[in-house]
Amino acid sequence: MRKNTKYIHAGVHPDPSTGAIMTPIFQTSTFVQASPGDHQGYEYARTGNPTRNALENAIAELEGAKYGLCFGSGLAAMDTALKMLKSGDEVIASDDLYGGSYRILTKVFSHYGIKSHFVDMSDMSKVKEKINSSTAMLWIETPTNPLLKLVDIQAITDIGKEHKLINVVDNTFASPHLQTPMALGADIVLHSATKYLGGHSDVVLGALVCDDADLAEKLYFLQNSCGAVCGPMDSFLVLRGLKTLHVRIDRACENAMKIAHFLKDHKDVSRVLYPGLEDNPYHALAVEQMTGFGGMISFDLADESMESAHKVVSNTKIWALAESLGGVESLIGHPASMTHGAIPREERMAAGLMDGTIRLSVGIEDVEDLIHDLDMAILSLKK
Ligand SMILES: *Cc1c(COP(=O)(O)O)cnc(C)c1O
Repeated sequence: MRKNTKYIHAGVHPDPSTGAIMTPIFQTSTFVQASPGDHQGYEYARTGNPTRNALENAIAELEGAKYGLCFGSGLAAMDTALKMLKSGDEVIASDDLYGGSYRILTKVFSHYGIKSHFVDMSDMSKVKEKINSSTAMLWIETPTNPLLKLVDIQAITDIGKEHKLINVVDNTFASPHLQTPMALGADIVLHSATKYLGGHSDVVLGALVCDDADLAEKLYFLQNSCGAVCGPMDSFLVLRGLKTLHVRIDRACENAMKIAHFLKDHKDVSRVLYPGLEDNPYHALAVEQMTGFGGMISFDLADESMESAHKVVSNTKIWALAESLGGVESLIGHPASMTHGAIPREERMAAGLMDGTIRLSVGIEDVEDLIHDLDMAILSLKK
């Protein structure tokens, strides 16, 4: 099956009892047994639910992995992956991480004796410098949020493998449509399915996939033991979202490229971060590692103040000022005061996330409307 066919058919089969083409929402907590242990594969819905299992199989198949597990959120998925570690272990993570991922490492797992280092993963020597006998996991995000830096997945997972580390790639920004980290050496791929996989801003859900049976067994054990599973209705919504993943992302990429060029030519904009631009430092790697440049753009106004950024993000009419990304509707955000508010200012500035950086999640509306709306909001600074 080719990729564009898989989005429609992966993981799902007509319901055997009725022939329903869409996977039913199995809204049940338990499953009747004929005699103790005599059941049809399901006992209790934390352990397994057919709607969730269909989604788990679909996401695994799209990522080119054998095993899939779904959770109540992307962070619940991350929590589960991190629980494979023990006190004393260390994690090396990207220095330009999703704010919530940074928070769970520094404010939650730090209390359980798990130490995290944050490094610029575009520089392999910085990663190697931090590896010691306690290092157990590499936490890789690419493209990063919100600076759209790319990490060379093959190069970094090679280092991880050499040191027997668990390589985890957060593939939320790219989605399996643009990038499949399992093929580039990842041991585990994480998704906040809340974003592109769901795609309609109506559900919060997370996923992990992996290929190794031992790793899968550990993750299933944690999924069942800690219980951060997603419900059947939410699983259904993401299953439905997956069916249009390719169409939505292709349009978002197309729109984003036009918007990136518009911003680049705008005299009131000083910096545009989009890997699709030929002068972007990650352009060559993006061409090699991804099949498209994605729907996320960040930019700085020439006037770098927080006030101006606040004014622009508050003055758009089509772009909604909101956290999150990856939905059909376009969103605008101010990372320093929203998604990345938890990161200390000096640390964030050192990583290149400025007071005035604005982030766009490009949706699938008419691109001329999106450009006009941004133009008007930037013009509002002059009033
Ligand atoms: C949103 C997001 C998460 C967290 O996912 P939730 O579903 O919000 O818990 C993790 N990583 C990235 C890159 C994200 O954008």
